[in-house]
Amino acid sequence: MQSMMFSPDNLSKSLIRVMAFLLFISSILPVTQANEIQLPEIGDPSGGVITPAEERRLGQAFMRSIRSSMEVINDPLMSNYIESLGNRLVSGNSLASQPYSFFLISDSQVNAFAGPGGYIGVYTGLITTTQSESELASVIAHEIAHVSQKHLVRTFDAVNRMSLPAAALILAALVVGAAAKSPDAAMAAATGIQAGLIQQQINFTRAHEEEADRIGIQILADSDFDSRAMPVFFARMGKATQIYDSGKIPEFLRTHPVTTDRIADSFARAEEYPYRQRADSLEYHLLRAKLRVAAIGNTREAVTEFRKALEDGRYRNEEGQRYGLVLALINNRQYPEAEKELKILLESYPEQIAFQVAQAQLAQQTGQPGRAVSILTDSMKKNPGNYPLSIYLAEALLSQGRPAEAIPLLEKQLEGRPDDIRIYQLLARAAGDSGKTSLGHEYLAEFYYNSGNLQSAQQQLEIALKGKDLSYYQSAKMAARLKQIRQELIEQKKREQ
Ligand SMILES: [Zn+2]
Repeated sequence: MQSMMFSPDNLSKSLIRVMAFLLFISSILPVTQANEIQLPEIGDPSGGVITPAEERRLGQAFMRSIRSSMEVINDPLMSNYIESLGNRLVSGNSLASQPYSFFLISDSQVNAFAGPGGYIGVYTGLITTTQSESELASVIAHEIAHVSQKHLVRTFDAVNRMSLPAAALILAALVVGAAAKSPDAAMAAATGIQAGLIQQQINFTRAHEEEADRIGIQILADSDFDSRAMPVFFARMGKATQIYDSGKIPEFLRTHPVTTDRIADSFARAEEYPYRQRADSLEYHLLRAKLRVAAIGNTREAVTEFRKALEDGRYRNEEGQRYGLVLALINNRQYPEAEKELKILLESYPEQIAFQVAQAQLAQQTGQPGRAVSILTDSMKKNPGNYPLSIYLAEALLSQGRPAEAIPLLEKQLEGRPDDIRIYQLLARAAGDSGKTSLGHEYLAEFYYNSGNLQSAQQQLEIALKGKDLSYYQSAKMAARLKQIRQELIEQKKREQ
């Protein structure tokens, strides 16, 4: 949770700021925007502690709400990187008894947050600001600690006199609303939060922050990352804060003020663990290069920048730099040059999935879709069940008019990722391409549902049910799903009145 830490003397000022913000948002957002939010009625309003199943449901609703208000990255390689890093941190310690989901948000702010149900969001701006993978891991470890220590659940307990949806709205506003200017903030204001409850929440979070630092350092050490990366990152951010004027302080620092006490505390804690120098993974540098290419925007400028830095030897990681050049060249349609640079990378790292995907992409762009399919199929044999490869192979198969082969690949991936909108999008296309129109609409309904758009999900299911190609079982299943979505829509409208 991107919880707010306040010193006692600025508490009331901060409280006023939060309230003022919520009220401000409620006054500028039209009511129709509030319609986008789905937070189902969950749990017994008088029941106190939320059960793990309820928390997961709340988490899924939270995630749909995030998708409808923020730019969640769906690039399979990028998603796969942050998931692997997060899972490595989680599996290294004994604290993890609950599910976690890690995702990236395309936003230049230096920020990260943990929502309910173990959903942890990382801003791309944080990744580009870190100077080592351990620094990035340290912020994620801090967020994991918020989840493993049940800070959010404890906060629910603290506000248990409210109904859970109302509490959820407050949390959404506090966790991401302030950063995202999400419509949730408007809803939170509309439900009439009492100042006292927010104050109670804030009182909780200071202790939470200290605990998240302490446990976070332990998580880092348990996963063989450099535990000193946390104080080092804090210290650098602290220095950076001095040069920002108050309006430009990064969001993470606003919510995680770096005081000298905090830096000293975390240095002292990190010292308790043996020193470990850990080299960054190649994937960390590849992700940073990809983000840099996207940030430059102009394809020709990107080529110039990456090429010049390579020639001058100005880079932290040569492969990362060259990979950025390859991507920039592909974007700029300089295919033979891209091929040449990629060959250098593949000679050193023939098994690197990102390089094989780039090779397949090049084949695709140069009119060799068959070659793209065979590159990805070969790679799949060595990496069975791999998520990015499955997605890219499915796309290549679809572009070759082979939807029947793409469908099982995608359905297999869906088993482990039931809310992945990119998979639903591809499945909808694959079903449509193979003449299964109703199935296509059904997948499209799930795409909309998980994107946080209930209205369109309902429409797609209504269309799907009119299909003549349905078995009894299929239409019964769809009708049940439609009923469920309609119910959620009704509850949503009720809350808005
Ligand atoms: Zn925190």
